[in-house]
Amino acid sequence: MRSSSGLAESLGPSEKGFRLLPDSWVVKVGGQSIIDRGKAALVPVVDELTRNFLADKKVIIGTGAGTRARHIYSLAIEFGLPTGVLSALGAGVASQNARMVGWLLSKYGIPVLNPGELSSKLAFDLEERRAVVFPGMPPYAFWERYPNVGLIPPHRTDTGCYLVAETFGAAGMLYVKDEDGLYTDDPKKNPDAEFIPKASPKEVIGMKLPDLVVEQPVLEFMALGKHVRKIQIVNGLKPGNITRALRGEQVGTVIEA
Ligand code: ADP
Ligand code: MG
Repeated sequence: MRSSSGLAESLGPSEKGFRLLPDSWVVKVGGQSIIDRGKAALVPVVDELTRNFLADKKVIIGTGAGTRARHIYSLAIEFGLPTGVLSALGAGVASQNARMVGWLLSKYGIPVLNPGELSSKLAFDLEERRAVVFPGMPPYAFWERYPNVGLIPPHRTDTGCYLVAETFGAAGMLYVKDEDGLYTDDPKKNPDAEFIPKASPKEVIGMKLPDLVVEQPVLEFMALGKHVRKIQIVNGLKPGNITRALRGEQVGTVIEA
């Protein structure tokens, strides 16, 4: 049985807002960085998440889209389709990945939510099963704004997962990728890239790095966030990192407003 602290205490001062799911974590499993690498990368990540939700954590697992989304974006751009349509197409790929992760978790009865079900089912399913899977692409449908350059939707699955964490007032936001965290440049392309263990979103934006390990809009949303002022990026290819991060250890990169 769950103990019930009074609603009045949990509401707190009104300017802080109400945390709907204060003891759940949002964990984003990277599309390109984890799921697209197949069994060798994804299965250990799913196993580690399972150990955590079977023990004492509640996890809202968001999925990235990855290479298949990049493919569909390039086709759609060739056909002259608008960014809002690209966003909906990308959401379809993130949904496929969510379903695959959900199938892998079948024996634990872990549900997969459609974007529209976040408001109707998330809280119930999480309380019942201690984990849920959802597609990380934000449900903007056709209302995605055009980016400053090109047509690729600027708010993709990193941003969608952050928005779910912030909206539900989750305990934390963890990104599981294939690098140890944020570097001064993409470590796959630049061997001299230096690791950045800790920084604020403002500092990271100010560094004007050539590329980032999370979508830049996440940093912009964080600056205005009421609940989730901190995100953590860990390497999911190294066993134990997810568990350490969920236990509050400084592993990977911490970006804190
Ligand atoms: P996801 O699979 O979650 O969509 P991405 O592939 O979009 O993740 O982003 C993670 C990748 O970002 C890493 O694999 C890394 O190669 C790349 N990357 C680009 N810039 C950086 C940087 N400054 N620091 C770390 N990784 C970076
Ligand atoms: Mg990405």
